[in-house]
Amino acid sequence: MTAGVSDRRPTWVEVDLEAIRSNVAAIRTRLEPGTALMAVVKADGYGHGAVAVARAALTAGAARLGVATPEEGAALREAGVTAPVLVLGPTAPEQWPLVAEYGLEAAVADAATAGGLAAAARQQGRVVGVHLKLDTGMGRWGLLPEECDRPWVEALLRGRLSPWLRPAGLMTHFATADAHPDPGTRDQLARFLDVVERLRTTGLLPGCLHAANTAATCRYPGTHFTLVRVGLGLYGLYEDPACPAQRPALRWLSRVVFAKDVPAGFAVGYGATYRTSAPARILTVPVGYADGYRRALSNRHEVLIRGRRYPVVGRVSMDQITVAVPPGSGITVGERVTLLGCEEGPGGRVCIGAGEWARRLDTIPYEVVTGIGARVPRRYQGAGPDGRESLEAPASR
Ligand SMILES: *Cc1c(COP(=O)(O)O)cnc(C)c1O
Repeated sequence: MTAGVSDRRPTWVEVDLEAIRSNVAAIRTRLEPGTALMAVVKADGYGHGAVAVARAALTAGAARLGVATPEEGAALREAGVTAPVLVLGPTAPEQWPLVAEYGLEAAVADAATAGGLAAAARQQGRVVGVHLKLDTGMGRWGLLPEECDRPWVEALLRGRLSPWLRPAGLMTHFATADAHPDPGTRDQLARFLDVVERLRTTGLLPGCLHAANTAATCRYPGTHFTLVRVGLGLYGLYEDPACPAQRPALRWLSRVVFAKDVPAGFAVGYGATYRTSAPARILTVPVGYADGYRRALSNRHEVLIRGRRYPVVGRVSMDQITVAVPPGSGITVGERVTLLGCEEGPGGRVCIGAGEWARRLDTIPYEVVTGIGARVPRRYQGAGPDGRESLEAPASR
């Protein structure tokens, strides 16, 4: 959604692609020369727009892209992206042809998937690269370390399961790398290293080894191997002293579409859950829970206008929120409202970031940004989707 009818709405997301590029560059400075960076752009680039983010990240030196589903990978290919794309999540039989058709790589943790992908690859006449996914302690999806000596695994890694499958990588995923204190990453890493050593001695180790998400990339250099898979940090949303100097790339903005001065005792919104205690000006802002402005924020969140915080009052509706400002503030129709992001104010810079949203909603920044609805147009700064950005992985990687 970059042009046309959907782009006129006075509620929009602004993505600073220069921030994405600078986040990629900052993370790359922490990596050894032999370690590449995969930009994880699943869920439409964590709500930022997968194609635009992918291009910015590749331009800044990312070598690969990661998605959750073959459909997401296909969408990148349809947009002209030629860089290697790995489907990180499990795939179903009806999706296997897509993996081959669009030249994607897939994570594999069972014999049926390996066999089905091989059949799809043969049908398309196109070799599929597969990454063996180990469950070293996440407990969600993957081959257990003790299952690695199964005949199909050895055959896969020897390249003998099918001429249509290329053993491309060995991977695992951490469950607690962002936890303070972290109860599990050390054990998971030990289990992964154990498998790596076993495969190395039998000559079956694939060339690409990867385990680290953003948190592990920042906190544990020992988890980097040949590739790190960075999502949250790409978007500047990993709040941790281990990874300073990140820039959030996304701002969510709107404009006041209606304003009225009301007396004390005036009820606002569904359920009349808010009543003014003094004369006030009530602003209507055209964003609601159908856009991902969650109803749980009713009467308990704030927005920024002219660099100051003002409360969201009354219920969040499907398509509107209401904000209270002083009657004499001069704020009226057309005024810009920052729903998520920073503004310069009279007292300096003020921010309502994804972290603050997440704390209020008892969730994590991932859910906040991926929850911004498809109805909200995305606009780009710092070289847009049609700018001079890369569709390829850099040749040196
Ligand atoms: C989403 C995902 C990542 C990226 O995680 P962040 O915490 O956003 O860096 C890495 N690896 C896998 C397997 C994932 O699913």
